[in-house]
Amino acid sequence: MTRVVVDRERCMSSGICEMEAPEVFELDDDGVLQVRQPADVSQVATAVRACPTGALALVD
Ligand code: SF4
Repeated sequence: MTRVVVDRERCMSSGICEMEAPEVFELDDDGVLQVRQPADVSQVATAVRACPTGALALVD
């Protein structure tokens, strides 16, 4: 099953993915990105592309 993963070394907590798909991505109070796996990964394709640091990826 395809899942969305975040490279925490690359994530700079910009919040762009959260703006694109708030039901999937949420920055917690410490600026750490929390990810809820979506039922359909096509929901997050735009957010994955929009990440300015390339921290997001879809993997099988
Ligand atoms: S868009 Fe990228 S850098 Fe910004 S919070 Fe999301 S994963 Fe982190």
